[in-house]
Amino acid sequence: EIILEVNNLSKTYHNHSFFKQNRRTTYAVDNVSFKLHRGSTLGIVGESGSGKSTLARCIIKLLEIDSGQINFENVDIARLKGKKLKHYSRHIQMVFQDPYASLNPRRKVGDQVTIGPILHGITKQQAIEKAKALFNMVGLESEALNRYPHEFSGGQRQRIGLARALALEPKILIADEPVSALDVSVQAQVLELLTQLRKQLGLTVLFITHDLRVAAQICDHIIVMKSGKIVEQGIASQVFLNP
Ligand code: ADP
Ligand code: ADP
Repeated sequence: EIILEVNNLSKTYHNHSFFKQNRRTTYAVDNVSFKLHRGSTLGIVGESGSGKSTLARCIIKLLEIDSGQINFENVDIARLKGKKLKHYSRHIQMVFQDPYASLNPRRKVGDQVTIGPILHGITKQQAIEKAKALFNMVGLESEALNRYPHEFSGGQRQRIGLARALALEPKILIADEPVSALDVSVQAQVLELLTQLRKQLGLTVLFITHDLRVAAQICDHIIVMKSGKIVEQGIASQVFLNP
């Protein structure tokens, strides 16, 4: 069953330069199409600048697309706005390379994990109970909810980022280079956690990385991007054999 189908998605950036001759258009995502199967983990692999983050940001609607469709459960969300978009957007959550960048340094992590669900209508008490359960699930003590982002290591912050994303009970989790900023030993722990969460929650994951070896470890299917285009795709072990 297909949960997300991206059709002919394109996104350009226009670099404005004082010097007219330097103005140029970057085709960051160039006519990309793919299908994501419910319950699977799809890897988007490519070197830096190949368009992976832009693609992810288009799917979570942080960026407006130029053209194409983003069919989530058979509804094209590409042009939805306001309330209608809010209904769908909670179902696609993202974790970033450095969750530090998206965590507010001046607020307790507990507040940051509970705010999303509260805005979506559950009570504060329910949100706190949920946050405690999620912290335990990602391997953090529930007391940690009272601490501030700088009191955690990189690996722990990635766990907080995961808890925050999962608090909204998304149907799709997009992980953009979730382990690239971590030490190799911590990388393995976070990948293990992702694999475990995926089984436990039946999550569908879009896993973005520049590292084919990391992708091959946890993805079923891999798409390789280059200059905004899909240049190769297949089951993880096959793509791995023909780099
Ligand atoms: P389709 O037949 O829907 O066009 P593809 O030809 O792209 O799919 O895929 C061939 C095989 O790979 C199928 O068995 C399909 O189930 C599997 N596959 C395709 N995309 C994914 C994905 N995102 N995650 C897991 N398996 C996939
Ligand atoms: P990746 O995630 O694979 O590193 P990106 O999506 O970040 O790739 O970048 C794709 C292309 O778009 C690159 O050429 C990059 O320089 C360009 N790009 C990314 N973000 C912007 C932006 N905000 N403004 C202009 N160009 C951008």
